[in-house]
Amino acid sequence: MNPRYDVIVVGARCAGSPTAMLLARSGHRVLVVDRAGFPSDTLSTHLVHAPGVACLGRWGLLDRAVAGCPPIDRYAFDFGPFAITGRPGTAYAPRRTVLDSVLVEAAAAAGAEVRERFTVSDVLVEDGRVTGIRGHGKGARPVTERAAVVVGADGLHSCVARAVRAQRYHEKPHLLCGYYAYWSGLPMDGWFETYDRPHRGIAAWPTNDDLTLVIGGWPHREFAANRRDLEGSYLATLGLVPAFHDRIRAARRESRIVGTAVPNYFRRPWGPGWALVGDAGYNKDFITAQGIQDAFRDAELCATALHRSFAGECSFDAAMGEYQAVRDAACHAMYEFTAELASLEPPPPEMQQVLAAVSGDDEAMDGFTRVAAGVTSPAEFFADENVGRILARGAGIAGGPQR
Ligand SMILES: Cc1cc2nc3c(=O)[nH]c(=O)nc-3n(C[C@H](O)[C@H](O)[C@H](O)COP(=O)(O)OP(=O)(O)OC[C@H]3O[C@@H](n4cnc5c(N)ncnc54)[C@H](O)[C@@H]3O)c2cc1C
Repeated sequence: MNPRYDVIVVGARCAGSPTAMLLARSGHRVLVVDRAGFPSDTLSTHLVHAPGVACLGRWGLLDRAVAGCPPIDRYAFDFGPFAITGRPGTAYAPRRTVLDSVLVEAAAAAGAEVRERFTVSDVLVEDGRVTGIRGHGKGARPVTERAAVVVGADGLHSCVARAVRAQRYHEKPHLLCGYYAYWSGLPMDGWFETYDRPHRGIAAWPTNDDLTLVIGGWPHREFAANRRDLEGSYLATLGLVPAFHDRIRAARRESRIVGTAVPNYFRRPWGPGWALVGDAGYNKDFITAQGIQDAFRDAELCATALHRSFAGECSFDAAMGEYQAVRDAACHAMYEFTAELASLEPPPPEMQQVLAAVSGDDEAMDGFTRVAAGVTSPAEFFADENVGRILARGAGIAGGPQR
């Protein structure tokens, strides 16, 4: 018997709704479910760098996603003795209550069936192949739905990944914990600012409603100790940069302080009758704020691969093998770069020398900020030839923050 759907997508946020939308736009029968209702918030500092903004533009969703949210077009990385500032392309930080709703609505408008407040309790596996899901709406009886492919877009604790025992690779432990809150009276004038201090990190950027998100982070080994006085630990971290602390003192905190720590892994993102996108398939520390644009990229790659296999252009295995290869090649260098930053250890001396040379060299500073935004791969920027060029231009250590 033919299944009712071509694809069931579990999870309807940054990875799931775009996957459902793109498949539905290609004419496939799609069901997307989420145990959450929308609009709803989720733990995320929601900075979307230029590549993610470009996806929203390609999909025709940018104007709605960033309505009321100021553009961010200058990045500043203050390393203490020197700073790097540049323009990597325009970013935005739309609240997830706004962004995720726009994505869910776009999936529905494309023709996908959307079921909110629907929890998947089981993934059906028959003869080694995923064939559907079992789940229930709020207070409703369990139902079974079948599809040719079930896509897990269900985040870190993916029930699809668990059911298929998706192989994990390049795993790393939790590296840092980050805590954030929203502040009023802290104007950012289009800047994304970060401060790198030994074993501490601080960053701030503007979002909807004239609010500024301020995050402070410390190594995961201090997780338990600092949790006892979260507010004290957060404020003490912000206090490490006197000029920033003065601005914080003049501002007002408008929300609770929330945060977490996350594991770092790749999961094999496909197998018989199943696929993974977004955090379900690949997760990295949030210090480089790559997760949303990675989820968008996965949605495009996975939806294209599934469409090609449904259209008979190539086998499912060939299409999905390519999805995995392209995904891994696109993000492995960023994964390692992110892990180094998330250790909150001072950079090794050779790297400090390179970063100091970058500081004050406009072309190199723009290049570094493009790496941080995920526009350019760290492998390309830190390649011997490029580093040699930067050092040869002889940029010295610039004094103090450049904002
Ligand atoms: C503290 C923090 C800060 C971050 N900051 C940034 C940032 O600034 N920029 C950035 O790009 N990324 C950031 N990230 C990462 C980013 O939030 C994630 O990469 C992104 O949300 C991944 O989207 P997703 O759709 O894969 O998963 P999620 O956003 O986790 O969505 C998964 C969905 O699946 C649903 N679901 C799960 N299980 C089931 C089930 N059994 N049945 C039905 N539904 C289910 C959930 O309800 C959820 O809605 C941050 C993450 C954290 C933790």
